[in-house]
Amino acid sequence: MVITDKTHFEVIVIGAGVAGIYQIKRLTDLGVSATVLEGSAGLGGTWYNNRYPGARFDSESYTYGYSFSREVLDEWHWKEKFSSQPENLRYLNFVADKFDLRKYMQFNCRVDAAIFDEAENLWRLKVDDGRELTCRFVILAVGLLSTPTLPRLEGMDDFKGRSFHTYYWPHEGVDLTGKKVAIIGTGATAIQIIGEIADKVGELHVFQRRPNWSAPLNNSPISDAEMADIRSRYDEIFAACARSPGGFEHEPDRRPFFEVPREERLALWDKLYDEPGFGIWLANFREIFINEEANAEFSEYIADRIRQRVKDPVTAEKLIPKDHGFGVQRVPLETKYFEAYNRDNVHLVDIKETSLERITETGIRTSERDYDFDIIIYSTGFDAITGAFDHIDIRGLGGEKLRDKWEDGPSTFLGMMIHGFPNLLMPNGPQSGAASTNYPRGIEIGVNWCMDLLEHIWKNGYIRAEATQDAEERWTAEVTKMYAIMLMRKAKSWFTGYNSNVKGHEEGKIRYFVYNGGTPKYVATIDAVAGNNYEGVTFVADPTNKSKKSA
Ligand code: NAP
Repeated sequence: MVITDKTHFEVIVIGAGVAGIYQIKRLTDLGVSATVLEGSAGLGGTWYNNRYPGARFDSESYTYGYSFSREVLDEWHWKEKFSSQPENLRYLNFVADKFDLRKYMQFNCRVDAAIFDEAENLWRLKVDDGRELTCRFVILAVGLLSTPTLPRLEGMDDFKGRSFHTYYWPHEGVDLTGKKVAIIGTGATAIQIIGEIADKVGELHVFQRRPNWSAPLNNSPISDAEMADIRSRYDEIFAACARSPGGFEHEPDRRPFFEVPREERLALWDKLYDEPGFGIWLANFREIFINEEANAEFSEYIADRIRQRVKDPVTAEKLIPKDHGFGVQRVPLETKYFEAYNRDNVHLVDIKETSLERITETGIRTSERDYDFDIIIYSTGFDAITGAFDHIDIRGLGGEKLRDKWEDGPSTFLGMMIHGFPNLLMPNGPQSGAASTNYPRGIEIGVNWCMDLLEHIWKNGYIRAEATQDAEERWTAEVTKMYAIMLMRKAKSWFTGYNSNVKGHEEGKIRYFVYNGGTPKYVATIDAVAGNNYEGVTFVADPTNKSKKSA
């Protein structure tokens, strides 16, 4: 932890993940007095915390890394097409060390509260080590999937073996050899873990509430020669990401689904299924996302693939989602996931059939029987998008609490500002372009926009900037409107704010969490706002005209 007696900064960034690292780089390049407060003991956010076996990118590594530094691009060698968590954490540390950013970061300090002081036009932050820090601007880089949620099951404290949420996978590692292991959940995280540990554990029981559509990751190593080629094409690669809706190299097939003969559709799907990454989802026909019939046809194609890979037909049917079509929830990419169920030591327990009653001292009780385990892994997801914001007592003008304002779902301006909460920025907030795209591509866009806004503020001697109510209402209406055409609105997933473990987020109420307009449209919109003298943002000038940003 950086020892500092300073209690006031021009900018405080909360969170030292992918966004926080780039944010502090940009701020300190300008000589701005800034610090990062991070609750964990190290930097890296998602890649610091999620240390479960099998954790890796499902974005191509070279599209996930930062694009801002030619030196980093030249020096870093991605070893796999989809790099694993330890390597990803090494990468983020490499970037931080290269630019000597660690000296601006304070670890093991969680922000409990951020209160806007209207008289002084600054934020007062309460840190869990007892300090109060102040800053003119606060930047929330708290992550969208950083608040893990556990089931609300009786007896969880009674279990005598080891149990943990995947986000808190013990840093020293867990020896699974020969162990009787239970995993609850079959989301993207569990699907990575199950494929990885099936042949290492003694017995593995997977407790599945609803199956998830999933397709092969098709990972492979990156040789020196391939890396040299990637380096020579970085400009091209990032340009392709900027053109694509999802911020990936994968661009949708723009041919009208129903005008393409079925054999050609099948040929495309056969090709995409065998290719690496999200092509099967994002280089597919656009109708998959919005047309029931197209989606049903493609879902049936994937269902057949599952039937081909899983030997027992009863298990195969249980692994095929029946309540939603392919791609309307976040698609997990897998390695040997379906083959895991062909092993004698892996057992699927369908808890829709035999409900999960409680955790016992020795394992899990379902409505059918008791199971004994050495280890229970809770892979039960996150209080997504707004969870990390709700964990901080954020109060804006008139003492309004952000968690009250967002009780029924977030409302923002461009996903980066909030009416009633001046001088608060979110480069990758709810409803921002980053939320549903290849995350770091969206993060760089968001950080750059926030930096331009801050420079505008400093240049003009302003001390307060706030989104207008009207601008926020228009943006939130736009985000909401886009859900109306997407099949995703019908799915029970974090895209729509569903989480059975969080009070108020159970079934029944959609939260308009993510911007679905795609990267090019998002960038055009935020650039137009900036180009139009930040239309939708009101500024207050410093009456003393001595707005200072330096240390
Ligand atoms: P998730 O997708 O929300 O999945 C949680 C799983 O736990 C679901 O199968 C859910 O069942 C189940 N579950 C939750 N509460 C339960 C309960 N009380 N009883 C029984 N089952 C319960 O969470 P995740 O797998 O951690 O993934 C979250 C997101 O993280 C992903 O969508 C992705 O965006 C990101 N992620 C990314 C990567 C990567 O980039 N490589 C890897 C992993 C995760 P229901 O479906 O019935 O709710």
